[in-house]
Amino acid sequence: MAPTDDIMRKPESGTDEREAAMHRLGAEDRVFLRVDGMHCATCEGFLESAAKDCKGVVDAAASYVTETVRITYDPDRASKETLCDALSTLGYSATLRAGGNDGSPTVIGQSRRSDEPNERGIDEVLGFRYAVGVIFGTFMLLPYAVLLYPAQLSSFFGDGTLDMYASASGLGGGDGLLILPLFLVLTGVVLLFTGLPLLQGAYVSLKMRQPNTDLLVALTIVSAYVYSTIAFLLGRIDVFYDLTILVAASVVAAIFYESLSKQRAMDRLTNLTISHVTEARRYGADRMTTMVDVHDLEPGERVLVREGERIPVDGVLAEGECTVDEAIVTGESLPVSKRAGDDVVGGAVVTNGAAVLTVSDGTTSSIDRLITSVWNLQSGEHGVQRQADRLASVIIPVVVGGAVLTGLGSLLVGTGIPVAVLTALGVLLVGCPWALGLATPLSVATSIEQAVERGIVIFDETVFERLRNVDVVVFDKTGTLTTGQMDVLEADAPSDLLETVAALEQRASHPAAAAIVNTLGKGSQDGDRSRADGGVTDGSDHEHAADITEFTSHATGVEGVVADTRVLVGNLDLFADLGWSVSEQIATRATGARTAGQLPVVVGRDGHAEGVIVVGDEPRPSWDDTLTQLSDRDIEIVVLTGDDEAATDFLDSHPAVDHVFAGVPPAGKTATIRRLQSRGQVTMVGDGTNDAPALATADLGISLGGGTALASDAADISIVDDDLAAVETTFDLADAARRRVTQNNGLALLYNLVTMPLAATGLLNPVFAMGAVVATGGLLAANSFRDLLHE
Ligand code: ADP
Ligand code: MG
Repeated sequence: MAPTDDIMRKPESGTDEREAAMHRLGAEDRVFLRVDGMHCATCEGFLESAAKDCKGVVDAAASYVTETVRITYDPDRASKETLCDALSTLGYSATLRAGGNDGSPTVIGQSRRSDEPNERGIDEVLGFRYAVGVIFGTFMLLPYAVLLYPAQLSSFFGDGTLDMYASASGLGGGDGLLILPLFLVLTGVVLLFTGLPLLQGAYVSLKMRQPNTDLLVALTIVSAYVYSTIAFLLGRIDVFYDLTILVAASVVAAIFYESLSKQRAMDRLTNLTISHVTEARRYGADRMTTMVDVHDLEPGERVLVREGERIPVDGVLAEGECTVDEAIVTGESLPVSKRAGDDVVGGAVVTNGAAVLTVSDGTTSSIDRLITSVWNLQSGEHGVQRQADRLASVIIPVVVGGAVLTGLGSLLVGTGIPVAVLTALGVLLVGCPWALGLATPLSVATSIEQAVERGIVIFDETVFERLRNVDVVVFDKTGTLTTGQMDVLEADAPSDLLETVAALEQRASHPAAAAIVNTLGKGSQDGDRSRADGGVTDGSDHEHAADITEFTSHATGVEGVVADTRVLVGNLDLFADLGWSVSEQIATRATGARTAGQLPVVVGRDGHAEGVIVVGDEPRPSWDDTLTQLSDRDIEIVVLTGDDEAATDFLDSHPAVDHVFAGVPPAGKTATIRRLQSRGQVTMVGDGTNDAPALATADLGISLGGGTALASDAADISIVDDDLAAVETTFDLADAARRRVTQNNGLALLYNLVTMPLAATGLLNPVFAMGAVVATGGLLAANSFRDLLHE
């Protein structure tokens, strides 16, 4: 979702491209608004059309999943503030997403730790508002039950007649009489205060002609309220105020719980992103690098950022050239070339080369920017219509039609208008499966929470929906199917060259480079294990004091000029491609190591290979099980690697693997994914910098925890722990989540299963209806909180 260049754009981005082009011309601005109160696909449609109705708005895309609306507008004709105002309507409240250029950043040197995402404000206010309504309302149900239920029950059982409500005799005098007018007012308050998001959702759904569960719930609570009020005015005691209160309160509470769960998942994702920049690689005067806390950096100090890593602070590029992606800051995913002297902005990702930058004066830590701008990256996609909303759009016309017909029928037989209205409302009251509106948020919240508990970060339930339709899963090899924690087994080259190579590899982010630095670099005993421990290094790592005047990173190696000597490090193909000579002996050596399943890294100087470093990598313990289990699901398994064929023998011969594509350069990975997409939905599992384009291109990207910032930005699902087995767990969770949604929607209909036959036989009593509400809600809650994977 965070494309870094054109090949990383999703195929559907035709209009985006146009927009981006216009944006580059400076004609338009883009803003991300956070809109509270958005919780379904209908809201998306409504807010998009509301935004597009504004003067100066070129395009708007809303996503309820992230509660974000992205608006492209003409800054001469609209402003961020007017757009916020325009979208703060009908109970929605739009605010500028802080961050990017709008945030209030931390100045380096001032030690403010902002580990906590700071976007909560509004949600908490809303939550409080509704919580008050919920507690207040339900608390008031006690006296209601004590005074009214006996009367309602005795009028049912007492004389045993069906016209037990004909008079309010049960509450004929004294205290009892007061409770009904009191509840008429109280319930009205709860309906309008606590039930506001539901009423608003219902209004929007009517306006968009797209019935949803909000409309179902609103029909139920409003018809119960109006029914009760008419009944009261007619002097009857068959009132359902309790139903209005309890249904409104529980559905709103569930919606709030859902949004809290998403928030928590989002925080996890933010922390994951931040974890890549809480430390920086300080490049000392002695040309050594040391890992330090970002907050301890001083202006003027130098920092080294490797390919695929995020730039931790604002600065000026001190030497060389590199390409960065500033999407997280600008919202635009374009590769931007930088050369010595250019400003680079914290939060951007180095997509090519490595950056040595000088920390700017009064500079900002990118942490603050990242916390809030993670949203921008994730906010592109629409949510899908939920199963319950689809059901609602079928059920609502039937129930409303039935109510109208029954009311008319009642008029025809001459009952008079009040009774006819009561009859019609009664049909709505018993016929609306309001509990579908309770089932969905509970299902969504559970699946998100249970995924996050297992270290699988999603904040978007539709990810699971998409995962279930996957036909092909593509695995990267190095670092994904293998551990990527490599060891140097042998190093056969002149020792001065090896030292230079280690210095050069210091700037590369490939796991082989980490192994070489660890073993052959100066001070290697406490060297960089950043790949092994998830990108954060403790201890220090050192770069050799050689003078690197040029650095280029290739897909299969690195090249640079060190102390006026050109040095090349990489595989045999790279040497061939660049026209460097490789002696027979070295070639044989390299090929031999490859055949043995090891990784030969050829090293050379001034156009000639001079030796080989043999690096060993192990398949992950769980690779076999993971592939087998996925292929048992009838999913096609493809392995994609930049490595050559000899290194993939163990995969080729595996029964679960359908295809192995070896020797694929990064651009080729994207192209392969595109080709596979003609066969169906493709999921890509990867970890490395050069996997990022493929992760973004695939219908779903899954990144493993040890991977680079670039890879986790590009993915839809982040596995926090570096655990391959979690891939299969993700698929299991998706299946279980679907079953849970279906179960919950089934349970939701229980209420109607009870009330409808009772009503049809004239036996419906408000106390029974309440019993059905409580039973349905209780069962739904109990079912939702069960562990998804242990049914
Ligand atoms: P995969 O696609 O399986 O993850 P990669 O694309 O990461 O494999 O790597 C492909 C090959 O490129 C590696 O096997 C290695 O030979 C070579 N390579 C890439 N970067 C470096 C580097 N910095 N140093 C040495 N070799 C490298
Ligand atoms: Mg890899």
